[in-house]
Amino acid sequence: MLPVNPPARLLMGPGPITADPRVLRALSTPLVGQYDPWMTTTMNETQELYRQVFGTVNDATVLVDGTSRAGIEAALVSLLAPGDRVLVPVFGRFGHLLAEIAGRAGAEVHTIETDWGQVFTPSTIEAAIARVRPKVLAIVQGDTSTTMNQPLDELGAICERHGVLFYTDATATVGGNPLEVDAWGIDAVSAGLQKCLGGPSGSAPLTLSPKAVAVLERRRSVEAGIREPGDDVSDDPIRSNYLDLAMILDYWGPRRLNHHTEAASMLYAANECARILLDEGRDAVVARHEVAGRAMLSGVQALGLGVFGDVAHKMHNVVAVEIPDDVVGDEVRASMLDDHGIEIGTSFGPLHGRVWRIGTMGYNARKDTVVTTLAALEHALRRAGHAVPHGGGVDAALDAYRVDTAAGVPAEVLA
Ligand SMILES: *Cc1c(COP(=O)(O)O)cnc(C)c1O
Repeated sequence: MLPVNPPARLLMGPGPITADPRVLRALSTPLVGQYDPWMTTTMNETQELYRQVFGTVNDATVLVDGTSRAGIEAALVSLLAPGDRVLVPVFGRFGHLLAEIAGRAGAEVHTIETDWGQVFTPSTIEAAIARVRPKVLAIVQGDTSTTMNQPLDELGAICERHGVLFYTDATATVGGNPLEVDAWGIDAVSAGLQKCLGGPSGSAPLTLSPKAVAVLERRRSVEAGIREPGDDVSDDPIRSNYLDLAMILDYWGPRRLNHHTEAASMLYAANECARILLDEGRDAVVARHEVAGRAMLSGVQALGLGVFGDVAHKMHNVVAVEIPDDVVGDEVRASMLDDHGIEIGTSFGPLHGRVWRIGTMGYNARKDTVVTTLAALEHALRRAGHAVPHGGGVDAALDAYRVDTAAGVPAEVLA
């Protein structure tokens, strides 16, 4: 039996992306027991690192063990009791996911929808809040299915005015686009590692404001077997044990009440992802994604390809490229993978077969990956019989980088 031996790939889809080698090294370091003093110190340190990543002073900043969806589900099942009203503005596949998860948690789900490729105005959301009177507003920040980045900076004040808790899924945006949890008044945020944070999927960083903690504390329950006199036993406990954030906070908090066994390797990965980001600087990392995203956008446009959606609200780290009529999308994707070792993304729902999604995120938000992907795409399109200008995509991307140099963007951002 040979050891696992994956092929060499450059992952330029909407996530997962190629993990930073530093994160892969962290994943291969030795296991330590969950109550070892080194481990609890490292857990505390990881909490502090993610406070900085999120732009918050929230004490309740932890990792949920599982992929990003575990973070979403933990937030919704813990904040929403059966029968509670939630408003979910849907602008893509992941908005539908929030509604589905909230529904399974027993919430009364109200949605508003906008066309794929668009975002909501704050006034549209405020009008829906006034009508529905929800306990929670649950909205995706960046929906990779459409590439749109929903502006959140005005929603916190609206939620505050109406006494609504504000939750967002920032999986695809954190690190690559501005996100200011405290300054924007967001009560609950969940994320994942496999987008702009440059890690593998499997850990969901999550933060809760004191107001959100107060809501879930009302249903706090300590399990029989570890319960001590005076501990809470709720008659309406959170409807998931594994994803009960009150229990998860007890586990991460000073009492270290036993819950799951912390996924140590994923903790190391999450810790290293945050260090990589903070070493480079939060603003510098966002700027690097902005520059790489602009270069990729210029490149695909210079190849004569259309771009889906309201580009003014596009996330920095992913672009939806319209598939020309004279090629079969999956054949070009297969050629990218088989001939060039590059993965680009397909699409869901109404966009299936209409667009490819190309990501420039995390470790792969770099000039060389942008240029290599555009050169391969040009070749794959020509080989599929579609006429494309010679070198157009690569030249436009390099020109975009040159313009940014002239504008004084620091060399390390452009590397
Ligand atoms: C990619 C993505 C996820 C991924 O969830 P997983 O459980 O890690 O697969 C969740 N939400 C959004 C908005 C995403 O873009």
